[in-house]
Amino acid sequence: MADQRFDAVVVGAGAGGLCAAARLAHGGLRTLVVDDKMRLGGRASTEEIDGFKVNIGAIAIEFGGVFEETFNTVGASLNIRAPEPASSFLIDGKLVDVGRGGWSLLLGQLTKQASRILEKFADARSGNLPDGRQSTEDWLKGYTNNATVHALFRNLCAAIFACNAAELPARAFLTYFTSKGAFKRFGFCPQGTIGVWNALGTAIARNGEIWLGTPAVKIHTIDGRVDGVTVTRDGKQMRIDTEIVISNAGPKATVALAGEAAFPPDYVERVRHDLRPAANIVINIASREPLMVHPGIVTFGKTRRLCNMANLTATCPELAPPGWNLYVAYAVPVPALGDFDSDAEVELALADLREQFSSFDQARILSIRVMRDDWPAQRSCAGYDLPRETGIAGLWCVGDAVKEYGNGGTQACAETAKLVTDAILASRQKKQAVGI
Ligand SMILES: Cc1cc2nc3c(=O)[nH]c(=O)nc-3n(C[C@H](O)[C@H](O)[C@H](O)COP(=O)(O)OP(=O)(O)OC[C@H]3O[C@@H](n4cnc5c(N)ncnc54)[C@H](O)[C@@H]3O)c2cc1C
Repeated sequence: MADQRFDAVVVGAGAGGLCAAARLAHGGLRTLVVDDKMRLGGRASTEEIDGFKVNIGAIAIEFGGVFEETFNTVGASLNIRAPEPASSFLIDGKLVDVGRGGWSLLLGQLTKQASRILEKFADARSGNLPDGRQSTEDWLKGYTNNATVHALFRNLCAAIFACNAAELPARAFLTYFTSKGAFKRFGFCPQGTIGVWNALGTAIARNGEIWLGTPAVKIHTIDGRVDGVTVTRDGKQMRIDTEIVISNAGPKATVALAGEAAFPPDYVERVRHDLRPAANIVINIASREPLMVHPGIVTFGKTRRLCNMANLTATCPELAPPGWNLYVAYAVPVPALGDFDSDAEVELALADLREQFSSFDQARILSIRVMRDDWPAQRSCAGYDLPRETGIAGLWCVGDAVKEYGNGGTQACAETAKLVTDAILASRQKKQAVGI
C-alpha cells in the first residue's frame, strides 16, 4: 500500500535529475525529487568553508544550448556571469587568449603541422571522423610529435573530459570541439554553482516537491515496468507509487536499486563492462595576494598532472570574504580511467602548482578532493556512455553516464534530461489523445 502517489519520481538532484524534474513539472506532471544529500546539485554543488563558497565540481556553466533552453522553458533565471576573456593557455609563463583565432595562431607558432591538424578539425566538422577506437593521442601523433602540442592536447582532454589523451577516443574529442558547445561561452554563478540548481528547484516546486536527505532504497517493478519507489524519510521507509522513475544515480546504482533480475541481461552486462568512470582532483585555493590575473580559466602547457585553473573572484568577488581571491585548480591522474594512487597524484598536482605560481606556498588550501569511483568527475568518460533507456518501461537514466556521443559536463546532463522528458511527455500526449 503506497504512502503517496506522484506522476513521476526523480532519484537524485544532480544536473540531469533537476533539469528532468523541472521539465516534467513544467509539462504538467506532479513530480517528486529525492536526494540523499542535504543540498541540490550533486557533483556540481557548493559547500561553505570559512566564508568561502567552494564548488565541489562544475564551475563553468555554458551559455546557450539545451542547458540555457531548459531554464527559459521552465521559467527559471540562469544567473551566471561571463569572465572576459574567458579562456587562455599559460605556456612557459606566457598567457595566450584562445578567443578570436588565438587557437589557430597558437598551434601555428608551435608546429609546422598546424594546418594539417586544423584541416582535420574542418573534416570533422563535415562529418569525417576517425573511428571510436583510436585515441586522441594516437590521432595527434599522425600529424605531429611536438611535445608542447601533445601536452596541450592532454591538458585539454583532462580539463574538459577528465581523462588523458591516450584514454579519450579521438572521435569524441573532435565531435566535442566541432559540433558541441566546447565551453566557448560560459559563466560562473555568483552564489556558487548551487545557485543555478536552487533556481531550478524553485521552478520544480511550482508543480512538485523536493525531499533532501532522503535516499531511494528500492525501485519497484512489475511485469517489466516500473511501479514505485521506496525512500527513507525521517528514519522511516515510505513507498511512493508512480509509473515514471528517472534515475540520476547512474546506471550501476540504478541496477542495484531495482535488482539485476528486473533488467534485460544485455543491459546488466553493459552496466558491468562498458562504463568508464573518469577521475580528477580539485584543489580550492584562497590567497590574499593574486596568484594569477587572467579572469577566466587558464589551461596549462607542459605539466605533470595539473590541467587548468579558474580565477573565480575576478568575476564573482562575492564567492570569498573581502580581501581574498578564490581559485580552483584541477588535475587529472594517470590513469584517469583506471586505478591510481590518490596521495601520489595529489603530490604531483601540488608540485605543478608550486612550479606555475611562485607564491603558491603562501596561499591557503581550502580543500583537496579526489573525485573517483562512485563519486567521479564523469560517471562515464565521453565515448563510453550507456543508453538512457534501461529496458524497464517507465525507468530511465539521466546524467553523465548516458550522454550523447562526445558531449560533456552539465550541458550534456541537461541534454539527457531533455531527450528523456521529451519522450515521456510525447508518449503521455499520445495516450491522452486516445483516451488511455
Ligand atoms: C571537479 C569537477 C569539475 C567539473 N567542472 C565542470 C565544469 O566546469 N562545467 C561543467 O559543465 N561540468 C563540470 N563537471 C562535470 C559535472 O559536474 C558533472 O557532469 C555533473 O554535475 C553530473 O551531474 P549528474 O546529472 O550526472 O548528477 P550527479 O551530480 O551525479 O548527482 C546525482 C545525485 O543523486 C544522488 N543520489 C545517488 N543515489 C541516490 C539515491 N539512492 N537516493 C537519492 N539520491 C541519490 C547523489 O547524491 C547526487 O546528489 C565537473 C565535474 C567535476 C567532478
